[in-house]
Amino acid sequence: MDRSEQLFEAAKRVLPGGVNSPVRAFRAVGMAPRFITRADGAYIHDADGRSYIDYVCSWGPMILGHNHPAVREAVEEAVKDGLSFGAPTEREVEIARLMVELVPNIEMVRMVNSGTEAVMSALRLARGATGREKLIKFEGCYHGHSDCMLVNAGSSALAGGHPSSAGVPVGAAKDTLTAQFNDLQSVEVLLNENAGEVAAVIVEPVAANMGVVGPAPGFLEGLRALCDKHGALLIFDEVITGFRLALGGAQEFFGVRADIVTFGKIIGGGMPVGAYCASRALMEQVAPCGSVYQAGTLSGNPVAMAAGLAQLRYLKAHPEVYSGINGYAARLADGLREIAARTGTGVRINQVGSVLSPFFTPDDVNTFTDAKGSDVGKYARYFAGMLERGVYLAPAQFEAMFVSAAHSGEDLRRTLEAAGEVLGAL
Ligand code: PMP
Repeated sequence: MDRSEQLFEAAKRVLPGGVNSPVRAFRAVGMAPRFITRADGAYIHDADGRSYIDYVCSWGPMILGHNHPAVREAVEEAVKDGLSFGAPTEREVEIARLMVELVPNIEMVRMVNSGTEAVMSALRLARGATGREKLIKFEGCYHGHSDCMLVNAGSSALAGGHPSSAGVPVGAAKDTLTAQFNDLQSVEVLLNENAGEVAAVIVEPVAANMGVVGPAPGFLEGLRALCDKHGALLIFDEVITGFRLALGGAQEFFGVRADIVTFGKIIGGGMPVGAYCASRALMEQVAPCGSVYQAGTLSGNPVAMAAGLAQLRYLKAHPEVYSGINGYAARLADGLREIAARTGTGVRINQVGSVLSPFFTPDDVNTFTDAKGSDVGKYARYFAGMLERGVYLAPAQFEAMFVSAAHSGEDLRRTLEAAGEVLGAL
C-alpha cells in the first residue's frame, strides 16, 4: 500500500467516503484518490512523491497556476494583520470596485463564502425582487448543493447516480422546474405553462458539470429574450466561467446580459469565496438596505479578499493570460482530436475558452442527453492511464479540464504524448 492508500484508509474511518467533497473520492474511476501535499505552477505533488501536470486546478480557481507569487505574497501580508474581524475592511471595497469595473452590467457586489452560497442567495434575491417562487434550471447543470438546486443536478451528483438527493424536502424542490440545455423550446413551454410565476432562469453559460457543453448559437440570446418577455430574471452562474472565459466572464465572451451573476472560487484565488452581483436596484433589496435577508460571519474575510484582489488585479494587468490559456486549450483539443482520428478511438472533444472535456462517443455532444451517451468505463480507463503517466485529470466524466497560465508548451507536449499512448490502447 502506498502512502496515499494508507491515508485514504485512515480518512475513511473519520470522513464519510474519506473525503470532504464527493468527487475527490475517485469513485467514478474506481481507484483510491491521491493525497496531495503541495502544488506549484501547473503541477501537484502527492504524498508518495509523485508529480502530475494538473488539469483540475482546484476545480477552476488556480487560473494563474498553483501558489502564484502575487497571490501567495498578498495572503502572507494580510495574515500579519489578523485573520478575521467581522467588520468592514478597505479590501472589500477595492475588490467590489474592481469587479464592478470588469464585469458588464453589475453595479454592486455581495461577498459570500462559496459558490453554493452565492447561488442560494441569488435565488432568494430573485424570488424576493419578483415576488414569484418558481425557478427554471437545466438538467445536468450544477449550481451547488442548496436544496432547491439539487434537482436533476450535474457534477458528482450525477456521477454518483443521484441527480437529486435524499433529505431535500418535496416542498423545497417542487418549485424548481427543469428544462433542457440548448433547447429554447423546453424553456418557453415551462414559461408559458407557469405564466407570471417564474422568478428566474438560472444557467451555466457554458455547461461544465456534464462535461463541457457550450451554448448553441442563439441559446443564451434566446434565454435573454424569453426572460424579458415573461418578466423573469436571468441568472448567469459564473462560478466556472467568471474571470475565466474573459475578464468580464460569459457576459463579455458571448455578448449577452444577465440580471444577476454569481461567482465562486476564482474570485478567492484559492481561498473560500463566492459572490452575487447585480444592478443597484436589485442589490439594494438585500439586507440591511432591503427585505431580502442574507448574512455571513466570515463573508469578506480579509485574507480571502487579499487573495482574490491579488488574483483579479493580476488578471487585469495581464490580459495576455486569456489568449494564452484559450490558445493552449484549443491546441490541446486539436491534438486530442488528431490522436482520436489516428487511433480510431470514438472521442469527441468539447472546448470553450480554457475549459474542455473528452466524451467517449462517436457522436457530437450538444445536449445533456448526448453527454450521457459517453462510455464512462472508457473514461475511467483513460483517466487511470493518464494518471499513471503523470497527468491529473478530473476523476469523473461529468466534469471539466481547466487550463492555467502556468501550463507550458512542454506540458502540452507531454500531455498529448501520454494521451497518444492511452487512447491508442483503449
Ligand atoms: N455553480 C457552478 C457552476 C459550479 O461549478 C459549482 C461548483 N463547482 C458551484 C456552483 C458550487 O460552488 P461551491 O462548490 O463553491 O459551493
